[in-house]
Amino acid sequence: MTERRPGGQQFASDNYAGICPEALAYMNKVNAGHEPSYGDDYWTARACDLFREMFEAECEVFFVFNGTAGNALSMASLCQSYHGMICHRVAHVETDECGAPEFFSHGAKLLMVDGERGKMTPEGVHQVVTKRTDIHYPRPRVVSVTQATEVGTVYTPAELKAIHEAAQAHSLKLQMDGARFANAAAHLEAPPRAITVDVGVDVLCLGGSKNGLAIGEAVIFFDLAAAEEFAYRCKQAGQLAAKMRFIAAQWLGLLDNGAWLRYARHANACAALLEEKLKSIPEVEAVFPREANSVFVRMPDPVIASLREKGWRFYTFIGSGDARLMCSWDTEEASVEAFVDDLKAAIRERR
Ligand SMILES: *Cc1c(COP(=O)(O)O)cnc(C)c1O
Repeated sequence: MTERRPGGQQFASDNYAGICPEALAYMNKVNAGHEPSYGDDYWTARACDLFREMFEAECEVFFVFNGTAGNALSMASLCQSYHGMICHRVAHVETDECGAPEFFSHGAKLLMVDGERGKMTPEGVHQVVTKRTDIHYPRPRVVSVTQATEVGTVYTPAELKAIHEAAQAHSLKLQMDGARFANAAAHLEAPPRAITVDVGVDVLCLGGSKNGLAIGEAVIFFDLAAAEEFAYRCKQAGQLAAKMRFIAAQWLGLLDNGAWLRYARHANACAALLEEKLKSIPEVEAVFPREANSVFVRMPDPVIASLREKGWRFYTFIGSGDARLMCSWDTEEASVEAFVDDLKAAIRERR
């Protein structure tokens, strides 16, 4: 049995990866000298401008430390405490945020919708809204879509538009959990605007950590009125970074030269390669179509155990409960090969 060396690449999460060189370089760059704190600095303003260029839209941008804060605070900002927030049954906001959206909204309830391949449908939204309209049930107020979804699929612009139309018909706001927005945009080859502003997204939580940052997500309001008092919400929740320029700087590293898209494409391509190699192994069954940077597979339990003994880490609690193999901005082809080799060995050993 060979243990994998510390620091060896893994497929557990895109959060296992380090900081991309562009973001690191910018951290150094903004480190020189003194700058105003709490976001009143040149670099933060510059990053916000680059987001406006990226989305080709007027928008208000806020930085928070992680995705849970971004989702919970943005959803809460659209809700009263007696409202309902619609999401997919496997949505991160429901399964992996420890009740933060309910907590920060002071009681708004998540209302779950089913849908194949981790995607909500307009019918699902319509059903949950019309199921109950009496005073005893929370009044639906916001729809949260995850792009790319928790199971690695990607909503098309047409699918998003249809969800927005359903939301609009019931006067619901549209929030997007974009922890892997870059991977979705890369898969679709779509301009960011086409899968946000153009399909009625009111607020987007744009993931940075999984795209190559150390820390920091951007909360981007396209609905400017909804952004009005959001800064207070961030501060009260402990999400206002005193030295904000170091979050902004990392984003500048990703945005300045299109690194965000390049890295997302790379992660997706590695997942495609992994998927391709796994296809030829009869004991391994694909669970979801690979669209972004994850591959979900079903394998015999002894094979999973054997891979873990060999030092590989991966999650088996997400979505369908199968193995999720996640590629990141820095995944190397050699790591994909090493994993597949060990998987084949594990199958031979267990025969
Ligand atoms: C990673 C992730 C988040 C953010 O998680 P944090 O750990 O709070 O940064 C949000 N949504 C989805 C779908 C994610 O995968």
